[in-house]
Amino acid sequence: ADFVRSFYRAHTEFVSPVIGPTALDFDTEEPKEEFSSEMCMYGDYLREEMASAWDMMTATGKIEDTDEKLQKYIHDGVKDLILHEVGHTLGLRHNFKASSIYSIEQLSDPSFTTKYGISGSVMDYQPINVFDGVTFFQTQPGVYDIWAIEYAYKEPNRSGHSEEIFLEEIASRNTDPLLRYGTDEDTFGLSTRGMDPHSNAWDLSDDPMDYYQKRFEMSEELLEIIPEYFEKDGEQYSKLRRVFGRSLRQYYSASRNIAKYIGGIYHSRHHVGDPGGDNPFKIVPAKKQREALEFIIINILAEDAFKFDPDLLNKLAPE
Ligand SMILES: [Zn+2]
Repeated sequence: ADFVRSFYRAHTEFVSPVIGPTALDFDTEEPKEEFSSEMCMYGDYLREEMASAWDMMTATGKIEDTDEKLQKYIHDGVKDLILHEVGHTLGLRHNFKASSIYSIEQLSDPSFTTKYGISGSVMDYQPINVFDGVTFFQTQPGVYDIWAIEYAYKEPNRSGHSEEIFLEEIASRNTDPLLRYGTDEDTFGLSTRGMDPHSNAWDLSDDPMDYYQKRFEMSEELLEIIPEYFEKDGEQYSKLRRVFGRSLRQYYSASRNIAKYIGGIYHSRHHVGDPGGDNPFKIVPAKKQREALEFIIINILAEDAFKFDPDLLNKLAPE
């Protein structure tokens, strides 16, 4: 109930700084306690992402802004969060690679997302899927979850094998790319410390650069229509300020996550002799590293990367 209340408050009333502390946190220190396996911050961050994506999708006409749709949206968001937390109680750790298994094309296809969801696991910190207008959240266990739960809980006796062979058979699927796994120690929360550009919080799809590019385009579209959509008689200017701040979230997220390609190493936990296994370290190809550098220069560091309408900036007063 707190989560829903907070969402409404954050969405309509709460007066926050331009960017919340979560988005500004370029933490390069040792991972803090909240990123350990014992603490989970998914709910706090998900709430912000939900509000941000809802503003963007409704203001730009990607989805209809009705009470019914908002209610379903919040219901599915809560379901996503509950699945994640129940996953922890069943013993699952974060899997920050799970959201990198599907392509944007797959995530844009409602028949695909209805069947498979938006990610390989409920244990990632995943953003809203803004691509198909139907499946915004991970509201069902993903392929990784089913596999991990099978290993931990499935009864071996029925197979007629010893438990060891039974478990080995399940574990032998670990080289399947759909089951890729990276947890807190691989990701270091929201920092840029992790070396594997697939192991990220708050990215989505097998092509994060393309993903962020598309989110930037949506943010730009939102920024353009802020005055038209949100500047209504009797409304507070702080609403414009909030929407503006949230539209920048993707830039913070991208600058952290895309930087990992530069000097990056894909890391797997394959064992020696695993069928289909490979070296556990694979250097990110130089071409991809250069693309990432170019991406950051153009979208984040360029002189004109954050050029805003001065008139809009003068409307961004806090409450
Ligand atoms: Zn968690």
